[in-house]
Amino acid sequence: MAGKIGMAVPLVEMDGDEMTRILWHMIREILIEPYVDLRTEYYDLGLKNRDETGDGVTLDAASAVRRLGVGVKCATITPNAQRMEEYGLREMWRSPNATIRAHLDGTIFRVPILAASIKPFVRTWKKPITIARHAYGDIYRGVEMRVPGKGQAHLVFTDGSGSRQRISVHDFEGPGVLMGMHNLDGSITSFARSCFRFALETKQDLWFSAKDTVSRIYDHRFKDIFTRIFEEEFKERFGQTGIRYFYTLIDDAAARVLGSEGGFIWACKNYDGDVMSDLVGGGFGSIAMMNSVLVSPEEKFVYEAAHGTVTKHYYEHLKGKFTSTNPMATLFAWTGALRKRGELDGCIELARFSERLERSAEQAINNGVMTGDLAKLSDHPGKRVVTSAEFLGEVRSRLEDPRTDV
Ligand code: NAP
Ligand code: MG
Repeated sequence: MAGKIGMAVPLVEMDGDEMTRILWHMIREILIEPYVDLRTEYYDLGLKNRDETGDGVTLDAASAVRRLGVGVKCATITPNAQRMEEYGLREMWRSPNATIRAHLDGTIFRVPILAASIKPFVRTWKKPITIARHAYGDIYRGVEMRVPGKGQAHLVFTDGSGSRQRISVHDFEGPGVLMGMHNLDGSITSFARSCFRFALETKQDLWFSAKDTVSRIYDHRFKDIFTRIFEEEFKERFGQTGIRYFYTLIDDAAARVLGSEGGFIWACKNYDGDVMSDLVGGGFGSIAMMNSVLVSPEEKFVYEAAHGTVTKHYYEHLKGKFTSTNPMATLFAWTGALRKRGELDGCIELARFSERLERSAEQAINNGVMTGDLAKLSDHPGKRVVTSAEFLGEVRSRLEDPRTDV
């Protein structure tokens, strides 16, 4: 490849923690910087710097995504009591993902990376299944209460003029539990729009599932909004593209997904998406092969790996050992972000490079070169387990090999 590929607009680069932070810099040095004149606005979301900036750095990074349009994020530690002690934190900071999501709103698309030599646990799956998870409301913004004993619970809404609607939840005869949750028409509408747009962009069918037979107002509202947005804004383009949209009950969807070949998008409410993305990810093989992209209603994008910071491997790394941590999802976060930048800025070369880098990584795996997590799943007769650094080197040699086919 002659000369480095230029970039018109920088990426928002969000560095992170532990083993993924190590992989991050390896990927940058081995596979990106030699080929791309990389321009980024760098934000260090490592826990130490989040603590030192009072978590200001996370908000700054989220604002930068709104300004520049595309970000790439490394996995980060969500602090708990043990991390408070380990890092001597001033506060138990929120999960950076939650902060970024709250700032941008939107939908999280989780896409598995497939490799021919890794067989999904579900025999019929041949193409990726993308989970589109609504990133607002429901139990994640719920309020809960322990009911101590006998008494009555009501749901009350007071409007701006002070008039009230009130319904009974339950007459408790003894102790129990109680929860209130909500969602917003605006957020559901933008969820629906980003799902329809993603389906058009990737030319895949869109399924949406909920439980409107039981939740006749709450879930039904989701179904109605999806139907209306589809009819008014997307039906024609779906027809032209040859893809379809349908709604089905979540239990029906769950059963159908198992018998399917894949190759579609399954839109889920917040909790359903949380659970189903792990189910689908697990069904395809390794969590290290799951990608994630947050798409906001303003069409801003944050790419990342779906897995965490791989703490156990990091502690081995600190002892001076070479680990066999799978860098695929982190690598695909970079290629996803670079490709999107290329598309938005009309830089075809950057988009092509990203594509070629992805194919090179897949080829390495299909040639039997893989990290330990994949070796357990692969039926490749000549498979060879390599360290993360060796794997990236193997990807690089394929990237440079003119015979690599894209
Ligand atoms: P994790 O980092 O995803 O790792 C769980 C286990 O999955 C690992 O111990 C490893 O299994 C396997 N694994 C995950 N990614 C792998 C990879 N790339 N290559 C090979 N194996 C991989 O989850 P966790 O241990 O529950 O969480 C660690 C930290 O990550 C926590 O502090 C959590 O807050 C954070 N986290 C961040 C995000 C995010 O930023 N999006 C998401 C989830 C968790 P073996 O040990 O068996 O090899
Ligand atoms: Mg989950």
